[in-house]
Amino acid sequence: LKNNNFILVTGGAGFIGSNYINLFLDDDEVHIVNLDKLTYAGNLDNLNVDGRENYTFVQGDINDKDLVKELFEKYQFQTVVNFAAESHVDNSILDPEAFIETNISGTFKLLNNAYKLWMEGPFHLKPEFKNARFLHVSTDEVYGTLGTEGLFTEETAYAPNSPYSASKASSDFLVRSYFHTFGLPVITTNCSNNYGPNQHDEKLIPTIIRTALGLQPIPIYGDGKNVRDWLYVTDHCKGIKLVLDKGKFGETYNIGGRNERENIYIAQKICEILDFINPREDGKSYSDLITYVKDRPGHDKRYAIDASKIENELDWKADENFESGIEKTVKWYLQKYNK
Ligand code: NAD
Repeated sequence: LKNNNFILVTGGAGFIGSNYINLFLDDDEVHIVNLDKLTYAGNLDNLNVDGRENYTFVQGDINDKDLVKELFEKYQFQTVVNFAAESHVDNSILDPEAFIETNISGTFKLLNNAYKLWMEGPFHLKPEFKNARFLHVSTDEVYGTLGTEGLFTEETAYAPNSPYSASKASSDFLVRSYFHTFGLPVITTNCSNNYGPNQHDEKLIPTIIRTALGLQPIPIYGDGKNVRDWLYVTDHCKGIKLVLDKGKFGETYNIGGRNERENIYIAQKICEILDFINPREDGKSYSDLITYVKDRPGHDKRYAIDASKIENELDWKADENFESGIEKTVKWYLQKYNK
């Protein structure tokens, strides 16, 4: 192993973190230490790491002060990529406490330990950590909701509306403060809704696919006209890697695929793909199963990302549009469910 280059990836057994590790573990210049609590959302089966010598898994909590300190001292991380979070808005409405503990206090523990390991005092990086960097993975939900017009830019004021987005906004502010107060080399990415392999069953797209295949009602909140800006997960991971390699410290980068779609369109599109590749035995369309259910409280109407900064400054571009990405995703779930 060259340079003893240990990277801490937190939450690497979850949806996006596992895709990130699967994509970038081949980079043999690094050794990835995956710290994951394995909550209901984490699953080691998401990872293709069998036989890999440059990978270590540690089951634990980013909010465990002693453990985090021990890991920073043991591995002398040069890089931190923080995916670990409670991530489901509906859960944050039912029981917000874990969102505060993981998303806010947990992020603080990571920042504080990075500061202690990397710096001799404010604005003085130790020479052996001159290339150190801390990337915090966040969401566009911190910006609140949009009307029918406009896009979120990096300058949009934060206006989080759910306990989830409020906890992520708080963590983003802590990250920001460590740059301005201490000069810690941090960067934050704010990404739109992801979809693709390994996403937990609770989220919208896996729920649509699973209920459709089970011939159960496909639940759609409210009138189905809420708009999200969808990004295929590996496009997000590639964006994170680019920001990690080339982004400017103290800055934030919005990542989004310019793929705004209404929830009802997504359900219909998935049904159309399933009708084609896995037709129902009774000859009906899966779309007959779409059922409107009571809206989520505080449901943001529309999110949409202006990704000009990462596109222009770092030359990032999504490889998938929504229609190509969703077809890949449906096929992946069909395999998962042995259909
Ligand atoms: P996920 O819920 O699928 O995975 C989260 C992972 O973190 C799980 O493996 C879980 O076990 C782990 N974890 C939870 N609490 C922990 C703790 N206290 N200590 C250590 N590990 C813990 O989430 P995801 O969808 O992969 O999201 C990853 C990150 O990306 C989150 O920070 C989220 O806010 C952000 N994000 C997600 C999306 C999206 O659409 N999914 C979009 C933008 C940003």
